[in-house]
Amino acid sequence: MSLACQKCINPDCGAEFECSQALYKCPRCGELLDIIYDWDRIPVPKKLADFAGRWASRDNRLDFSGVWRFRELLDFCGDEFKVSIGEGQTILEQNDDLAGQLGMKPGRLFLQYEGLNPSGSFKDNGMTAAFSHAGFVGAKSSACASTGNTSASMAMYAHSCGMKCTVFIGSGRIAFGKLSQAMDFGGRTIQIMGDFDDCMRQVQDVCSQLNIYLVNSLNPLRREGQHTVM
Ligand SMILES: [Zn+2]
Repeated sequence: MSLACQKCINPDCGAEFECSQALYKCPRCGELLDIIYDWDRIPVPKKLADFAGRWASRDNRLDFSGVWRFRELLDFCGDEFKVSIGEGQTILEQNDDLAGQLGMKPGRLFLQYEGLNPSGSFKDNGMTAAFSHAGFVGAKSSACASTGNTSASMAMYAHSCGMKCTVFIGSGRIAFGKLSQAMDFGGRTIQIMGDFDDCMRQVQDVCSQLNIYLVNSLNPLRREGQHTVM
């Protein structure tokens, strides 16, 4: 068995699949998938400070990344597939003004500003993992339903990986600033009649029929990268 696999979250099903497959739902029962690891066989650093120590070797692109710095904890593909554009370099910053408004003592409240990510949102943490997996499974094209940050992040990573990408948007309620980011990076836009849920249904149909890599948060690998914000 591989060191990591995809497992259905439905306790009555529990089907397992290799990470070399691009899946968004359990093919057996339709529930979401989670990634599980064989921790007995994965060598992990003994303490958290070992991850922090990688700051000293940040000229290594994976050590610099705020996601891949923790790569032993999300080791679902080889390092040669891991893409990074310096995401996740966000740190906790003390905010005494807000602490005071919330009735907290100074020095007790810290905020992590995820807007400092390359595309301007926390989505980059998950997207770097999704696109690493996309490369691992040999995907050539990606898609998502999004009205904002997800599309901007997807288009940025797709561009850096030399992959095509398509954004599905519904009628109205679009963040034009974010959509323009996606278009700047070469994203193609398809507008459909309907709301976000209609877009989600459409994009899943299209991705499964045309073998396009779906990067919405149904994607269990994207959620793996998202965990590293913590
Ligand atoms: Zn299942």
